Amino acid sequence: MTTGTDHLRGPEEFYDAYVFDMDGTIYLGDHLLPGAARMITELRRREIPVRFLSNNPTKDPEQYAAKLNKLGLPTDIEDIANTVVTTTRWLQSNHPDAVVFPISEEPLKKALAKAGIRMSEDPEEIDIVIASYDRTFDYRKLQIAFDAIWFHKRAFLIQTNPDRFCPFPGGRGEPDCAAITAAIEACTNTKCRLNLGKPDPVMLTEALRGLDVRTEHAVMVGDRLQTDIQMALDTGMVSALVLTGEATADDVRALDADHTPTFVLDRIDRLVPASAWAELGWSENDD
Ligand SMILES: [Mg+2]
Repeated sequence: MTTGTDHLRGPEEFYDAYVFDMDGTIYLGDHLLPGAARMITELRRREIPVRFLSNNPTKDPEQYAAKLNKLGLPTDIEDIANTVVTTTRWLQSNHPDAVVFPISEEPLKKALAKAGIRMSEDPEEIDIVIASYDRTFDYRKLQIAFDAIWFHKRAFLIQTNPDRFCPFPGGRGEPDCAAITAAIEACTNTKCRLNLGKPDPVMLTEALRGLDVRTEHAVMVGDRLQTDIQMALDTGMVSALVLTGEATADDVRALDADHTPTFVLDRIDRLVPASAWAELGWSENDD
């Protein structure tokens, strides 16, 4: 039986790109996790691309970059791939001429406008209804979606992310995108066609878009088995689970081979190969 930390091992080589979940992986609340800063700094020194993912479409990529900067991790906006970014990129690549109706907050609308995607509230010309995490959702928006999908029979439904609720510290939370998707599905008797957030592999495809990197040479790093790791497995990417957030070593032991991540790490800087630790003079006692 595996005990202690003897099952924890990192890769022996660097990969071509690294995609990171943020909460529980890079930081916890307002603190970077041990080793996060020096690991990202080392990847950047080697000019290896990094991307940071989030399912939350209520924030601009700028806000995530600002948070990472404030925590001591200098980050460019191009490195952030939240669902505002993945949804916009997917539309640009697959339906650049579609007229969309985003049921969303300002960040997604701003990104769509910047990308030249046409938005409309006229059900007769809407091709795609985008359900999102929208705290200004109301009956008027539901009616427009209903008319575009059911009455005019022209629009289809996609969603930014599949989360039922967004958890808050202290146990409360608020309804997330799944509630809005469900309302539209219920009245139109249709199914949402695509989800641009974790755990759908399209999120990783869009996060890596523009990088000349093969998915099997890239690593997805996260703290959740059902989202971060499952998405990596479904995409054919290398997967690394960090035990600094949700998943525990016991959770890993309970997995069958098909669901086991490539690497299980007690701290995130184990992604830097042990040989490089030696060259860099790193020890576990410092961050
Ligand atoms: Mg997480």
